[in-house]
Amino acid sequence: MDHIAANLAQVKATIAQAAADVGRDPQGVQLVAVSKTFAADQIRPALRAGHRLFAENRVQEAAGKWPALRQDFADVQLHLIGPLQTNKVRDAVALFDCIQSLDRPKLARALADEFQRVGRSLPVMVQVNIGQEPQKNGIDPEHTDRFVQLVRGEYGLDVVGLMCIPPAQDDPVPHFQALARLAEQSGVVGLSMGMSGDYAQAVAAGAHWVRVGSALFGRR
Ligand SMILES: *Cc1c(COP(=O)(O)O)cnc(C)c1O
Repeated sequence: MDHIAANLAQVKATIAQAAADVGRDPQGVQLVAVSKTFAADQIRPALRAGHRLFAENRVQEAAGKWPALRQDFADVQLHLIGPLQTNKVRDAVALFDCIQSLDRPKLARALADEFQRVGRSLPVMVQVNIGQEPQKNGIDPEHTDRFVQLVRGEYGLDVVGLMCIPPAQDDPVPHFQALARLAEQSGVVGLSMGMSGDYAQAVAAGAHWVRVGSALFGRR
């Protein structure tokens, strides 16, 4: 499992280089290790190598592996990057440290209610359907500013970033740049963008979180 530590070092070096190339501080970019579909045994080498920031796309799957991993590595930070049904909000708030996939008012309300109930609130990111794909989750780019103001004002949520998954067939760079402009327009500081195939380009476009799975853990 040494290859996972080697992959981590490689990806971190690529991030640092991509940041340096555009005059950014590499410390301003966080590597989110996407461990979906990988078993706890495959995640442990990354933890042993000192990595602490991970993401999963399903609440159920995360519930099956992370409580045990957290017993050994208490300072883990876990982000949710997949769709969240309102009936799973309670489990999600108990498991995760950040919800990156806030994509509708009903979910904002359910999260706000749950934060109130447990007396603890999590940072959230607004997922933007940057390529306006009919099948994809996320707020329409044109409605992003209004949605951000709604969830901040009406529900008091702490919106720390915008998140996007560009259309698979497109050049991702214009989409990354569009997300950066939307963030600026709506007064959001953080950008979660870039995956295994394009995280260096995302860093060049201003990403603060890159979400990398297969380049670290292998093919799914
Ligand atoms: C799976 C996934 C990733 C990671 O994808 P890779 O191509 O394996 O790096 C990033 N973001 C989201 C939302 C995902 O579901």
